[in-house]
Amino acid sequence: MQLLLAEDDPILANGLTAQLNSAGFTVEHAPNGPVAEYLLAKQKFDIAIIDLGLPMIDGLTVLKKLRASHPDLPVVVLTALDRLDSRVAGLNAGADDYMTKPFEFPELEARLRAVLRRARKDPAANGDVAVAGLHFDRAARRAVIHGEPVELSPRESTLLELLLVHADKVVTKDQIAAAWAGDGTEVGAGNTAEVHIHRLRRKLEGSGLEIRTIRGLGYLLAVERADGRPG
Ligand code: CA
Repeated sequence: MQLLLAEDDPILANGLTAQLNSAGFTVEHAPNGPVAEYLLAKQKFDIAIIDLGLPMIDGLTVLKKLRASHPDLPVVVLTALDRLDSRVAGLNAGADDYMTKPFEFPELEARLRAVLRRARKDPAANGDVAVAGLHFDRAARRAVIHGEPVELSPRESTLLELLLVHADKVVTKDQIAAAWAGDGTEVGAGNTAEVHIHRLRRKLEGSGLEIRTIRGLGYLLAVERADGRPG
């Protein structure tokens, strides 16, 4: 995944580059508008993160030009201005999503993945996952257990996908909240991770997979133990 990061704050840019690299993105950094435009003209990108407050040529101008030259490139805009007018201006100029500074990296990553999924440009986000008796179609967000379709709510399918992507690794409640935020589903009372984990566990019965609770850390999806006892 080739990613353009147009951000003038060197500390933020360095931190983001390191985190994006470990999340599997190859990052080209532009510290100002002209460099961003140069890189966009020179190189092929799968996704771009553009700070609206860029020096020399501002992010909104870069975004408007980019939309004309790269109509399909997914763009997530960063803005320090938590103001409705800048959001509306950015959306009109063709941003796919927004992050208001300051933000947590897991939420940015979740939004990047969601934008890529919508753009259907991330092969990893569109591949099918088959583990034990479960088959999950990531593009269609459909789950099938031993040939039987399973009905999942949008939140449950996001949760299942997150657990599958991180199979055998702990997924924290923060990661779950970030994934839901990235999918645009609202977090409210009674919509907690616990509730959805409980429902998803029941739906996964018979799949050969189990969701283990890792006390104080989060949840982990794993193939059921051979003795059939839940973990
Ligand atoms: Ca800035």
